[in-house]
Amino acid sequence: MIDLSDNTNAWGMPPAARRAIAESIPSPRYPSAYADALKAAAADYLGLEPQMITTGCGSDDVLDAAFRALGRPGERLAYPSPTFAMVPIFAAANRMTPTPTPLADLATCGARIIYLCSPNNPTGVPIARAVVESLLARVTSDQVVIVDEAYAEFAGASMTDLVPRCDRLIVTRTMSKAFGLASLRIGYCAADPALIDAIERVRGPFRVNAIGERAAVAGLRDGRDWMSAHAAKATEAREWLVGELQARGLNPPPSAANFVFAPMPEAASIAERMLARAVRVRAFDEPSGIRITVSAPEQMAAALNALDEARRCE
Ligand SMILES: *Cc1c(COP(=O)(O)O)cnc(C)c1O
Repeated sequence: MIDLSDNTNAWGMPPAARRAIAESIPSPRYPSAYADALKAAAADYLGLEPQMITTGCGSDDVLDAAFRALGRPGERLAYPSPTFAMVPIFAAANRMTPTPTPLADLATCGARIIYLCSPNNPTGVPIARAVVESLLARVTSDQVVIVDEAYAEFAGASMTDLVPRCDRLIVTRTMSKAFGLASLRIGYCAADPALIDAIERVRGPFRVNAIGERAAVAGLRDGRDWMSAHAAKATEAREWLVGELQARGLNPPPSAANFVFAPMPEAASIAERMLARAVRVRAFDEPSGIRITVSAPEQMAAALNALDEARRCE
């Protein structure tokens, strides 16, 4: 089975993180309450202060806690559609109203929380910095803008440098994608210390396990070169995949992430037929298409074969 469905790192994790896991001694004690070592490592990685960081059990947990801390039941959470599938789910779980809203209308929509994903999942398309800056200039003091940068390492662009200048901005990051630590569930975000405080109060302590924290710290401190080199491999492979899809008459939007969205009709049945050929991709409707995680060339060649066969038997 070739699994190209979840955008994790096809090349593994930084050796420094692997060593930290192997050398971890299981402890019967609790981990640190608020993952201070991880906060320090993430702050250093982003060039920010540790008081501007909080962590969680994946960035999913950070998003969920931010929604709960900053939105009240019945208030709207706006986002351009399509976007990360968990966002309307977490909004509803926190009794907010998920509200798909065109990018151009976000500044005037009056939603309590505005969520943007850049590069966006599932399309891969990044949001221009100027768009975020003009949105931040227009939001009121009772709104917050969340920019989900789960794939920033592949894009080579980030909004985290805006955090010290804007107390209405939260940027979320994860160790699950470019750093290859999805199984350990480590995410974090950067924001003004007052927002960090509000999120930590509703979220509570002990959300990051000790082994995951050690692996993440090692990855952020000593695994940056490995991560950058493998993110470069992913972007090179992505451009090859885009060319192959275009040669098949498909028209993927420009991706800045480690996956490509290929619009096509009947995506769900195409994905099903690819799965019967031992290749797992993720199907979406509205717009109909399949999302393919970038991987090593042999795996992608096999995936393209499966795609060709799946489309032939339509
Ligand atoms: C994968 C993903 C995440 C979740 O990552 P975790 O840190 O593993 O919870 C968040 N946002 C987007 C857009 C993702 O694609």
